[in-house]
Amino acid sequence: CGIVGYIGKRDVAPLLLEGLQRLEYRGYDSAGVVITGPKAAGLKMVKAKGRVRDLEAKVPARFKGTTGIAHTRWATHGAPSDENAHPHMSGDNKVAVVHNGIIDNADDLRAKLTADGVEFLSETDTEVLVHLVARSQADTLEEKVREALRLIEGTYGIAVLHADFSDRIVVARNGSPVVLGIGEKEMFVASDVAALVSHTRQVVTLDDGEMATIKADDFRTYTTSGTRTTANPTTVEWEA
Ligand code: GLU
Repeated sequence: CGIVGYIGKRDVAPLLLEGLQRLEYRGYDSAGVVITGPKAAGLKMVKAKGRVRDLEAKVPARFKGTTGIAHTRWATHGAPSDENAHPHMSGDNKVAVVHNGIIDNADDLRAKLTADGVEFLSETDTEVLVHLVARSQADTLEEKVREALRLIEGTYGIAVLHADFSDRIVVARNGSPVVLGIGEKEMFVASDVAALVSHTRQVVTLDDGEMATIKADDFRTYTTSGTRTTANPTTVEWEA
């Protein structure tokens, strides 16, 4: 349903929670956040069924990072629950994904992955994507995500965080909106400009079939086959 992400220098958890609150008007049944950063060892995740304030209440006092992605879920596959809330993480806690949309061939992919020994922790369609990224042998996070997306049929707006590539967030769009927000030595991503406009008015809207890598001081866009695309930042008008 809703996606927010940030990479920069600020304390990320409060920023992401604020972003989620700005997406609450769209409706949702659960929420979650995963963070990392130069001083954070690996990925740290909290999820909760219910409201964003229920999630906030579960966030530990020391939940510090400078990079993260967050989600409000409107369940399509699997009941609303803590486990089915996004983000979803791989068994080794290295890959985290938030997803809007529906993966049509999830049952088929789940059966194949299960037969291969992968353990599933949720009932969502989204979780197949996490395991596909985690199992990719590609060298870069961008290529890992591309490989996974080649196997997916359906709609998605996704944001992916990887513990071994913590200087970036990789996002992709096919039928579900993804907008980049360009800041000063910080970058935002969201499914809806409402989550960005209190921080920046400079945005790039991805097209279907487009992906992006965002870093604190840089971003680039490309197609799901890897060809660079030209991103034209626009200024959004917004009545505060
Ligand atoms: N299909 C996914 C799920 O049920 C994502 C739903 C959404 O867009 O929030 O978990």
